Amino acid sequence: MTYEDSPQPLKVSVVGAGIGGLAAAIALRRNGHLVQVFETSENKTEIGAGIGVQVNALRVLEHLGLARENVKGVSYDGITTYDAHSGEGVARRWLLPEMDQNRSILCHRKDMHDELMRLAVGKGEGPPVRIHLGGKVIQCSPEDGTITLNGGEIVHADLVVGADGLHSTIRTSVLGHVQTAPPSGLSCFRSLIDASKLRDIDDAEWLTGGLSGMRGLPIKGEDFRMLAMYTCRTGSLVNLVALYADPHQDDPDWSAVGTREELLQRFHDIHPKFLALLALADNPILRWQLRVLPLLDTWIRGRAALLGDAAHATLPTLGQGAALAVEEAGALGCLLPRGTRREDVPRRLEAYQTLRKPRGDYVNREALDQTTEPSKRGLYFRSHEVQSYLLGHNAIKEAQEYYEKHFSRA
Ligand SMILES: Cc1cc2nc3c(=O)[nH]c(=O)nc-3n(C[C@H](O)[C@H](O)[C@H](O)COP(=O)(O)OP(=O)(O)OC[C@H]3O[C@@H](n4cnc5c(N)ncnc54)[C@H](O)[C@@H]3O)c2cc1C
Repeated sequence: MTYEDSPQPLKVSVVGAGIGGLAAAIALRRNGHLVQVFETSENKTEIGAGIGVQVNALRVLEHLGLARENVKGVSYDGITTYDAHSGEGVARRWLLPEMDQNRSILCHRKDMHDELMRLAVGKGEGPPVRIHLGGKVIQCSPEDGTITLNGGEIVHADLVVGADGLHSTIRTSVLGHVQTAPPSGLSCFRSLIDASKLRDIDDAEWLTGGLSGMRGLPIKGEDFRMLAMYTCRTGSLVNLVALYADPHQDDPDWSAVGTREELLQRFHDIHPKFLALLALADNPILRWQLRVLPLLDTWIRGRAALLGDAAHATLPTLGQGAALAVEEAGALGCLLPRGTRREDVPRRLEAYQTLRKPRGDYVNREALDQTTEPSKRGLYFRSHEVQSYLLGHNAIKEAQEYYEKHFSRA
């Protein structure tokens, strides 16, 4: 079959314009498909926080056209773990030697989102993606590929991608019942600190010197507490995540906004050099509940598929949530190339699930275990096996090979 007589491009509805939804839109647009993204928010951008983009995600993002210089990353070469009380640190590089050539990076989420938006709607291969902000989807019929918007409009498509995050609506349609993500008992403070303020503290060497990458501070004690920090946006910002055990997540007055005073109070007993950094955080500080989805029975139904947090939201322990969403987007692109017919879609989604669900399920459970089981805390940074599985993975190659084997002569 030549390009001229190949079937019509697929019509695709992507629900959610987060990192996962935009990555899927880009992957499908590049194949010539007609992609629309529906996003609840009126002015979607990512929250003011950092994100670690590990090499398994970067491999896919570069395949989709990402220009590293546009996301202003800081090299993520490993972790320095500090004793919260003595202030002593131990640096660990990634254990895979190839990480020295192909480096993970630490970015501002907004820079990543802006770059994905450029690749979705800007000039490039395939028709530009149409983004509908303020387009909340309230229902989906997976068998016929329709979604209903909150204004009542019904949109027909050949494929629906449910990239609508933790509280996914598409998940309900795919599963046939509501599956909420229960509270994990952990919450976190999140803040971005202007790195020029580091001039005001006596010792910032522990953060800015030595191995480029993450700084981790597990805090011994009865209740779980941990700090994770790193510089991002070419070193001009410091990202801070402060995790703590929080039994009050179901309280009706739980607030998504915290204060520097609360942060300092919760972490008052750590070494003064770390407290000095926390004291630089500006009010208000984001307060985030961490929730974990149980493993789902399926990610697909008919012509609808789940991707990203909608499918496998978990704790941030491995820093792989968005990375997996990007891998899944890349795999969808490989399984639905130009020339895919409407009637091919359900079988391609079965292939998507076969390829991707075991990996999503693994990260969902492993991220939880490496937080809740004391013997597994920090395992990711010690284990060659876990790093090989996560960082060594090439989602594009795997999906292309699967496509060649199962569909290329169909
Ligand atoms: C503290 C913390 C640190 C993390 N650090 C990392 C990290 O370093 N690296 C990493 O890879 N991952 C990290 N993660 C995980 C990562 O943030 C998520 O896995 C990722 O952002 C999920 O992306 P997504 O596109 O699937 O969903 P989301 O980002 O949640 O996007 C979903 C979108 O869908 C929209 N939406 C929802 N419902 C509807 C609807 N009905 N109709 C239309 N639109 C809708 C929402 O408005 C939203 O824009 C971290 C998570 C946390 C909590």
